[in-house]
Amino acid sequence: MAVFYVTTPIYYPNAPPHLGHAYTTVYADILARYHRLRGDETFFLTGTDEHGLKLQRAAEKRGIHPKEFVDEMVEKYKWYWSLLDISYDRFIRTTDEDHEEVVEWALRELWKKGLVYKAKYAGWYCVDCEKFYSEGEYEVVEGKPYCPIHKKPLEWLEEETYYFKLSEFQEDVERILSSGDRVYPKQYAGEVLGKIRDEGLRDVSIARPRERVWWGIPLPWDPDYTTYVWFDALLNYLTGAGLLRDPQRFQRLWPAAHHVIGKDILWFHTVIWFSMLLALGLEPPRKVLVHAFLINRGLKMGKSAGNVVWIEDLIERYQDSDGLRFILARIFNLHKDIEVSTELFDSIYNADLADNYGNLVRRAGTLVRRKLSGTVEGRLDPKIDEAIREAVKGYEEAMEAYEVSRAVEAVMGLLRRANAYINETRPWELADPRDPLYSVLEAVRNATILLHPVIPKATSRVAEALGFTLSYEALGVPQESYTVRDAPILFRKVKRGGPSP
Ligand SMILES: [Zn+2]
Repeated sequence: MAVFYVTTPIYYPNAPPHLGHAYTTVYADILARYHRLRGDETFFLTGTDEHGLKLQRAAEKRGIHPKEFVDEMVEKYKWYWSLLDISYDRFIRTTDEDHEEVVEWALRELWKKGLVYKAKYAGWYCVDCEKFYSEGEYEVVEGKPYCPIHKKPLEWLEEETYYFKLSEFQEDVERILSSGDRVYPKQYAGEVLGKIRDEGLRDVSIARPRERVWWGIPLPWDPDYTTYVWFDALLNYLTGAGLLRDPQRFQRLWPAAHHVIGKDILWFHTVIWFSMLLALGLEPPRKVLVHAFLINRGLKMGKSAGNVVWIEDLIERYQDSDGLRFILARIFNLHKDIEVSTELFDSIYNADLADNYGNLVRRAGTLVRRKLSGTVEGRLDPKIDEAIREAVKGYEEAMEAYEVSRAVEAVMGLLRRANAYINETRPWELADPRDPLYSVLEAVRNATILLHPVIPKATSRVAEALGFTLSYEALGVPQESYTVRDAPILFRKVKRGGPSP
């Protein structure tokens, strides 16, 4: 049995998720649903990254414990993900007990192997950011380093910390990135390799003094230090697969691990993550799937850029989660940034969902009910048969290559063909419209199965109304007859104006 393990980054819950988070998460969800539909053993992991200074401070500001703060935020994340029909198998939290066990285990392993050591860290530090700035990151005012955010002088700070010997893994990481196909699209592996060649790999700090950052997992051999949040966070992928508590499951899942990430965290998910895994004696993940950004008004969407688009506004505009899920799938791009706009979203929704799919379902269902009292048997037109085969093939190839938008496009091609066919054959004028209507229903059935991972609600409704099952094995195998119970209106067109993203 094929196995598919897919993860999203665990999100930092200092604010609720926005469209950028939805973009990543819906994509991972579509891959998970596709593999489940195919009958693969599938495990889909998402969650939250709950330690660190930012959350400690956000909680302090409100006078509550950070755990209380993140508990509240986690409920918000879960609420959004249920709104979007995200079918995760586990929502992991870095405060989960089994995760803390994994982090402690990993730290001990590296410590035992001599891959972690204590040394002095010195650098320019901003007290307000609580962050070190290296050359090139800070601003220089009258020859002195200034914080780029607070516009005040940085302080020279020296402190002892623990380092992970990242430098030892440079050759291995270069070999993996240049020979394998673990990073998709390949261009991103090239970017990382370029950066390694320019800068080399320097050892990285994996701890923070407890007096500054107490909200974290203590180092097992030195409780005066807490684990730096990224080190803690990356390990969630091992916890989720059952590393310590279910080694058998881990053995099955880990070789099938697919990490979906945005390109901003590429370095962490390749150089640092691969090195950590090698240090722990584990294989790198099967695949790191890297996507480009959503751009709004010229900037990457984010809290700090102030150009966030809210998920609930879009669900309201497109009436249901399916509308938004479909739009995100249709624009999904691993290779280049996508500019979002109401015009783009409306046109996708109206043209593809309301017209191409929704209208065809409505017309075919209505005609079968009116002309044939709801039951149809017939011969499949070879032209439609060919269009179905072509769509299934194109869809499958695209999905296996993680190109969700191309897979959706293959289905849209089939639906356009079926719409043209209904106009050409004019079944409403025929004395015996059985063959053309049967052929149209066959196109609708196959398209609906293929779209199920993208728009689970609408496709379930169509399957029930037209009388077929959403079974992947039934693709390309003509169904003997249809009993149409209903001709639902799936998507109502949106008009200009109204709430906009
Ligand atoms: Zn600052």
